[in-house]
Amino acid sequence: MASDYIVGIDLGTTNSLVAHMQREFPAVIPGEDGLNLVPSVVALDEKNQILVGNPARKYLIETPERTVYSIKRLMGRGVEDIQEELKFFPFRLADDLQPGEVLRIKMGERTYTPPEISAQVLRQLKRNAERFFGGPVTKAVITVPAYFNDAQRQATKDAGRIAGLDVLRLVNEPTAASLAYGLDKKKNGIVAVYDLGGGTFDISILKLHDGIFEVIATNGDTHLGGDDIDNLLIAIALDDIQGDLKLDVRRNGEAVQRIRKAVIEAKIALSSQPSARLDVELPGANRYQREITREAFEQVTDPVVQRTIAPCKQALKDAGLKPGQIDEVVLVGGSTRIPKVRQIVQDLFGRVPHTDLNPDEVVALGAAVQANILGGGSEITKEMLLLDVTPLSLGIEVAGGVTDKIILRNSTIPASATQYYTTQVDGQTNVAIHVLQGERELARDCRSLARFDLKGVPPMPAGMPRIEVKFLIDANGILQVSAREQRSGQEAQIAVQPSYGLTDEQVENMLLESFDYAEEDFRQRQVIEARREADTILMALAKGKKNEAWRDLTSDERRRIETLERALGAVQEGDDYQAIRKGIDALNQATMRLAELMMDSAVTTALKGKTMDETGLGEGPQAGHPVAKAEFE
Ligand code: ADP
Ligand code: MG
Repeated sequence: MASDYIVGIDLGTTNSLVAHMQREFPAVIPGEDGLNLVPSVVALDEKNQILVGNPARKYLIETPERTVYSIKRLMGRGVEDIQEELKFFPFRLADDLQPGEVLRIKMGERTYTPPEISAQVLRQLKRNAERFFGGPVTKAVITVPAYFNDAQRQATKDAGRIAGLDVLRLVNEPTAASLAYGLDKKKNGIVAVYDLGGGTFDISILKLHDGIFEVIATNGDTHLGGDDIDNLLIAIALDDIQGDLKLDVRRNGEAVQRIRKAVIEAKIALSSQPSARLDVELPGANRYQREITREAFEQVTDPVVQRTIAPCKQALKDAGLKPGQIDEVVLVGGSTRIPKVRQIVQDLFGRVPHTDLNPDEVVALGAAVQANILGGGSEITKEMLLLDVTPLSLGIEVAGGVTDKIILRNSTIPASATQYYTTQVDGQTNVAIHVLQGERELARDCRSLARFDLKGVPPMPAGMPRIEVKFLIDANGILQVSAREQRSGQEAQIAVQPSYGLTDEQVENMLLESFDYAEEDFRQRQVIEARREADTILMALAKGKKNEAWRDLTSDERRRIETLERALGAVQEGDDYQAIRKGIDALNQATMRLAELMMDSAVTTALKGKTMDETGLGEGPQAGHPVAKAEFE
């Protein structure tokens, strides 16, 4: 049934695409014009009708005040975050914006938020898919850059909702690209995803374990891509025209646009042929013609290509890896069609990159694969589980302006954790919950995500109320915080939708600062992770005991498992992570045969080759075990 289709969408800075699973392989759904790529451009025409994609592009020059492009750069960001962008892009912001308010962009007489503009692009993709399937399409998986923060992800989800799409999952672009190449089937290894698009460069290092992708490092340059190459070529053409034809067309928008079109065509031709011809008609019956060899092209564009090297090296360093440790290299983005770019990437990682799929389609194809997995797709893909991690720790402010972390940085998501707090003052009826993001000890050094009050707590002596604070990060990385006073049942909650995001620099700084605390962080994390793992295996075991395989074990085996189960339960809450680990390992060993029997019984094919704690038979990542606070226990 057409309405059951879940499509995969690459919502790109320059171009967007929609794809679906055609039997075994993902395929891009073309638009009415037969083209796969929908330029991420939105315009208002003379009749105030909204145009999207190729039809909108001509308005870029004709009525720029009624046209918006590169809106992805503003998604989930605030006025403070985008000052740098404004130097690069002619975004026209609403005049009456208040600090902290969601951005609005002027288009014609009206203003629109970035999610509203992105929603227009999504709507076009939805229409293309509906035309293709001949029925409604309401569910989608949308990709986002791996470095997108909460606010940017939330804004992307909002765009989906505005477009009438139920966004089942946001997937990281590099993860999607790897899925498109079926790298998950390799089970283990390190994947480098090199993405050079129209205006952005991203390098991501992914760790693949048991078919699960984890982003271990990202880097890049938010202002580097094919546009830079175009601009270099345009500059040369303008110089030529001034020198040879004694004509200055720099201020002639129409002429510059023609030159742009011609150089892009030449650039694309040069990716597959040794030379290309520029031929542009100019005002006054003038004509600019020039032959460009690939050699000359490579020389001119070399600085752009070279600028991708340092971020790659930094990402490797952050991941603690040498180039030789990269097992797979995936190319993403239209600009990686340039042979010289491929060469550089190959030299850098010492691996021949994957190039079988179109680099500007591969992310959408991977989104379709993920959509298929979520839709219950095929037998093989059904068992796959995709993981991401939170880039920064999340917590709340406690007495003394101290940060109390609730979910630690690099926790796999979805994740949840609960901690208990109480009041500071006798008779306190309002409790302020201040949600923070960051690695630092003091609240003022972290980023404030949201504040809300838990009201109506019955007056009690300080220390009496028992306030449960629950953090939940869903599979899309969006945070939900709730607080509940357990004695009275009073409750308050907030979905953290910060109106703006962090600048790249801020994230970088926050991480840099956190390195000073890395050692301490690490120890604490060991304890938490060990506890969580213990939780998972104990839960998985509880389920296993209900399986018929349990009865197939000998009574000795069952007794041994139950002894180890109790032993693990006894150390689980302690701070000695080595003891917890030992308990986990012992239980793992003892349950190996149970896992095998369960596997044989075909009840849980997902157990294949794994011990129970890896199967996700328990609630898996959701089973986050909170750091226990001593006050009430
Ligand atoms: P984004 O991810 O930023 O939305 P894409 O992956 O679609 O962008 O890449 C768009 C860029 O790729 C543009 O700069 C375009 O000119 C460039 N491009 C597309 N095809 C080729 C090609 N054959 N050779 C060189 N550059 C190309
Ligand atoms: Mg892209």
